[in-house]
This record gives sequence, structure tokens and C-alpha cells, in this order.
Amino acid sequence: MSKATETILEIDLQALRHNYRYLTFRLHAGTKIMAVVKASGYGSEPVAVAKELAGLGVDYFAVAYVSEGITLRDGGIETPILVLHPQIDNFEAIISRCLEPALYSRRILTAFIESAERFGQKEYPVHLKFNSGLNRLGVVETDLNWIVDSLKETPAIRIKSLFSHLVASEDASEREFSLQQIQRFKSFADDFQQALGYTPLLHQSNTSGIINFPEAHFDMVRTGIGLYGYANHPDEDRQLKPVAILKSVISQIHTIKPNETVGYNRAYTAKATEKSATIPIGHADGIPRSLGNGAGHVLIHGKKAPIIGNVCMDMLMVNVSQIECEEGDEVIIIGENIPATVLSQAANTISYELLTGISQRIRRVIKNASD
Ligand SMILES: *Cc1c(COP(=O)(O)O)cnc(C)c1O
Repeated sequence: MSKATETILEIDLQALRHNYRYLTFRLHAGTKIMAVVKASGYGSEPVAVAKELAGLGVDYFAVAYVSEGITLRDGGIETPILVLHPQIDNFEAIISRCLEPALYSRRILTAFIESAERFGQKEYPVHLKFNSGLNRLGVVETDLNWIVDSLKETPAIRIKSLFSHLVASEDASEREFSLQQIQRFKSFADDFQQALGYTPLLHQSNTSGIINFPEAHFDMVRTGIGLYGYANHPDEDRQLKPVAILKSVISQIHTIKPNETVGYNRAYTAKATEKSATIPIGHADGIPRSLGNGAGHVLIHGKKAPIIGNVCMDMLMVNVSQIECEEGDEVIIIGENIPATVLSQAANTISYELLTGISQRIRRVIKNASD
């Protein structure tokens, strides 16, 4: 019987290597891979994950914000890093840490050229974001002329890649829209390359794009969730392994008499003599309160223990009436037999939100590093 001492998040780098190889195998030969390690590596441990991927020969990293890029550089990562969503105040840090900004609007592009010139840069690598339908960040077709004019006027920056993002690559019912987005991106890329006079790398696919749209792999793909073991489709999920394993421990077991209640606001009432176990993880740790009152469960010795009553800030209680267990026994909240999708679906959300919501107060334990 497995014992435990506290709540931990194990980061299984062997699972990461497996997922990386699986995704590589889905690509056309020669396609580059940009590993998305934003949001602390989807809630895992960004430096350990990035080091492992760098060892596997990943071509690029992507983060959302400059601070995340600095964390990687401080951790010794030397691979090129794309910052998906930089702000003007960050440009000095971007240049001093050799981070590569996504330029997505006239305001950002003009300001970055100014900074690159001020810091004496030549052909500083930047990435142009094209809005092919998400309407989140990016320039559009009518921006082409002023962009090319500004680029031709300065030697300070060079467009290393042109990229766009699919709106619904995981959604089969939006296939037509995705195909239109791919066409729109291709057509802009053709016009842009012609006007620019050189050829940047092209990329448009996230994990589900890799799986569902081989025609959109272009020169590089950007994979996040797939590396961490999820791919927005049950068949693909089965090919992947969860990197983040969330484990806890039974702190205390109570015998609950009929009509006694468990937890805040007396949300659970025992029907018979029952047994509850208290687990040291709560909504402040990223377990949604919506998983209370039977919506979610955990695994104890491989058996389902439903959450009873309301999830507290630092604890939750589960029904272990049917499970032979004792205080100090291990509890699996996310793992191979209870992937994040079980809880995310029960909480009416997606694996991304559940994983990135696992609080930083839970200790990360790195397992199976290759060196
Ligand atoms: C987060 C993000 C990705 C990664 O998407 P996954 O679905 O996790 O593979 C790729 N591209 C952009 C622009 C993103 O913001």
C-alpha cells in the first residue's frame, strides 16, 4: 500500500520524452518544433521541462510573457525563445536576454523597431503575428504595405517567422473554418514573402493542428498541451502520457454517523455510518470548488473516492466508506488512471485550465530526468 507525506506534483520527464517523440512522429520529416512552455510549462516546472526538451533537440520555445522567458534564460536555456505577447515596457529586457518578440500591431512593431535601433541592433530576430480569424492578436492583409515599408527602412530587425493561430483546430465541426484559416495564412504568407524579398519560417498549428491538419504543419509547429500528455481527443490522449502527476495523502479518517454532516455549510449528510477521508488540497491549490458534492473524485488504492461536501480552501473530504485505507495512504488526484480530463470535464472546463491552475504552493518533484 503506497504511503505519502504531503501533496506534491510529480513532473515525469520520461512521459515528456514519450510525448515529444509521439508528436515528432506525427510531423512531416524536417518540420521544426516549437515547445510552448508558457504558464510555468502548463503548470509543471518550466526550466526542467525546457532542459529536457532542449536535450531532445527542440528548435524553439514559446512563452506568453517576458518574465517567463527570463525564467528560462536564468535557468540556463540557450535555445531561441519566442515571446507571444510582449509589451512595450519589456523591450529592453527582451533584447538584453535575447528573447524574440511576436510583433502583432502597428504600435508594437513601430516601438520595437525604435528600441532595436536605440540599442544598436542589426537584424534582431522578430516574429510577425498574422490574424487569420481568432481576432485576438495580429495584423491583417491591409497592413501588409506599411509593414513591408517599415521593414525596408531599417536594418535593425529581421522577420524570422510569420505565424498565425487556429481558432478551433480541435473541433471537427469547425473544419471548414480551419481550412479557410489555413488558406488565408498561406495567401498572406505568399504576398508577404514576395514583398519582403526573403522567406521567414511559417507556422500556424498548435497540438490539435498537428493532429488534425497535416496541411498546416508548414515549417514549424507550436505544441503545448500535447507535450504535457493531452490532445483534446480521447484517441490521441491514449497515445500520450500525463507529465503532471498530482498526489496527496489521507490526513485523517472520520467515522460519520447517520445524519451527521461533512464540511462547510453541512453540504453532505451521511445516510448510514460512513467513512470520510480528509485530503490536504483545496480550491486555493487549483481544485475547482465545482468538483464538490460528488462532481469529482480521487483515486485511493486505485478505487474512486467521490468528493463529498464543499471543497475547502486547503482541504477536501472524500467518501472512503467502500475503500480499505488508513491515514497516511497515498491519494492520486491526477495521474495515468485519472487524467486531468476526468476532473476538467467534471468541472466543466478544459485540461489546460485545470493544469495551469495547480497552485505554486504545491511542491514540484522532478522525476526521470535524462541526465
Ligand atoms: C498556447 C499557444 C499554443 C499552444 O497550444 P496547444 O493547444 O497547447 O498546443 C500555440 N500557439 C499559440 C499562439 C498559443 O498561444
